[in-house]
Amino acid sequence: MFIVGLTGGIGSGKSAASQWFEKQGIQVIDADIVAREVVDVGQPALKEIATAFGDWVLQADGSLNRRALREHIFQSPESRHTLEAITHPIIRKSIIEQLNAATSPYVILVSPLLFETNQHELTDRNLLIDASEEIQIARASQRDGQSIQQIQKIIAAQMPRAEKQQRADDIVLNDGHLKHLYQQLIALHENYLNH
Ligand code: ADP
Repeated sequence: MFIVGLTGGIGSGKSAASQWFEKQGIQVIDADIVAREVVDVGQPALKEIATAFGDWVLQADGSLNRRALREHIFQSPESRHTLEAITHPIIRKSIIEQLNAATSPYVILVSPLLFETNQHELTDRNLLIDASEEIQIARASQRDGQSIQQIQKIIAAQMPRAEKQQRADDIVLNDGHLKHLYQQLIALHENYLNH
């Protein structure tokens, strides 16, 4: 199976691009969705997290208190490592299973942390959806209602744009209309079909 990694910073247009590929019949595995699934109630990773951090990470209904955990790891790099040591191998295993099960002409793995979490090791080619920080902030704040400062913080924590540009095989600059994005994707889709 030919696997294309799709990445980009917050608000760059990963979801917009993924939806376009899905419309062409290409299966898209979303690393963010997998990351949520593996900590669902009843999943072994959730138990491991509660054992490592304490029951305060669980809500009354037994589900993960994402906000509390997020705030905790934001303040402590060490706990971030602990969390990632638990979740990353499980996420990776599940991604591999889903990639292997795909039946479309090629498959896309969309991940905001494709390079940061070494998920690019699983792919044959990597596509960066790229946009200026200004555009990222405008789009993400409109979509999520988050403040400009919050989005700037997220951007600052992500891999620098220039580094992602260097690592990507294909780059689509999503700084215009959606139509312009789709036009660029058509050419790439053709290439991926003929890999
Ligand atoms: P990401 O998944 O990378 O965070 P999205 O695909 O969700 O980004 O895009 C962020 C927001 O900007 C969404 O509301 C999306 O519909 C919008 N958007 C994306 N690309 C464009 C574009 N070229 N023109 C206008 N709006 C766009």
